[in-house]
Amino acid sequence: MSVSPYLTHLECTACHARLDVERARGLCPTCGRPLAARYDLAAVRRAVDRRDLAGRVPSMWRYREVLPLAPEAEPVSLGEGFTPLLPLPALARAHGLGAVWVKDESGNPTGSFKARGLSAAVTMARAFGATALALPSAGNAGGALAAYAAAAGLAAHVFVPEDCPRAFVVEATALGASVTLVPGVITDAGRRLREVAAADWVDLSTLKEPYRVEGKKTMGYELAEQLGWSLPDVILYPTGGGTGLVGMDKAFGELEELGWIPPGRRPRMVSVQVEGCAPIVRAFLAGAAEATPWEDPRTLAAGLRVPAAVGDRWMLEILRASSGTAIAVPEEEMLAGTLALSRALGVLVAPEGGAVLAAFERLVASGFVRPGERVVLFNTGSGLKYLEAVEAALAASGARAAG
Ligand SMILES: *Cc1c(COP(=O)(O)O)cnc(C)c1O
Repeated sequence: MSVSPYLTHLECTACHARLDVERARGLCPTCGRPLAARYDLAAVRRAVDRRDLAGRVPSMWRYREVLPLAPEAEPVSLGEGFTPLLPLPALARAHGLGAVWVKDESGNPTGSFKARGLSAAVTMARAFGATALALPSAGNAGGALAAYAAAAGLAAHVFVPEDCPRAFVVEATALGASVTLVPGVITDAGRRLREVAAADWVDLSTLKEPYRVEGKKTMGYELAEQLGWSLPDVILYPTGGGTGLVGMDKAFGELEELGWIPPGRRPRMVSVQVEGCAPIVRAFLAGAAEATPWEDPRTLAAGLRVPAAVGDRWMLEILRASSGTAIAVPEEEMLAGTLALSRALGVLVAPEGGAVLAAFERLVASGFVRPGERVVLFNTGSGLKYLEAVEAALAASGARAAG
């Protein structure tokens, strides 16, 4: 038995249909919306105390009882997660805030937080007997799938936009994946995948299977643990497909049920996008329950070049329920933010992290972030995978790239 005894069932996030873990694959067979993993948290609560975690493996697998794999089975792990929460005291002081931290995901295997989701999804796909895995990617997910599939000894098929940053294509190919370049954006890559997929390929597209979210939710567990079992007032998250946002919200609900954090003290969740591709921001501001696809998405932040997200409804509900917001920043501010955040931290951040810093500055100026509050900014990846964008940022700032 490869499934955790605490994992009781899968539940549709829209129609709440209850499905069998061993049998259900993909989306809800009734309404086509994403499925979520549900655990017997009362049993977990009896079995583990949050203090038990201290001596455990410094990866996301330290939260073993709330992950889907059976305790005696080995996950496909490359040491993902348990990333640092880096304080920016000068920035906090400048704005009169209680604290500003950056949850820095750039040190993950393959240089982004996609490692978390793919560690969990590849682990479960292998546990259910898969031999070949596939997904469309705007960039980082392809590298992460290639890495975890290589570690698991499984075949990987990655479909990416033909103009995605070069490092993603080189990395996935070097790790042994078959990489297909597709004209257009990630949704076009997904369409091509479905056209050519062989019967034995398991589709690990964002939110089209439930376990990538289980990996991503560990960011929420880590934040709570690293902040001494408290949560910040505000979290800014660069949103493409939205798995991190829904994953953290899921974690906060589970943490409350486990009694590991006090109830009713959830952070205000902020979805950050760029003006060249902001479907969630547009829907949020319009008061809509669902997002309509963005026409002609353009941005160098590859992870945000996602014109349509399967989890749009789920994300919009979370933003509203948490009294959060959604904000799009201009491309120039995202590029300037990339350099500013890199220099403030001493970490070459991904442009998605740059967008978050730019959004933070705007939300402080608008009064959404209030004096004394504690804020977490997400840097979701490494700038080393985005040399084109970093060079564009340097050119725009008037500096010259060396060489
Ligand atoms: C994929 C990606 C995002 C968007 O993440 P979602 O959880 O899909 O919204 C943000 N930043 C980076 C670096 C990414 O690779």
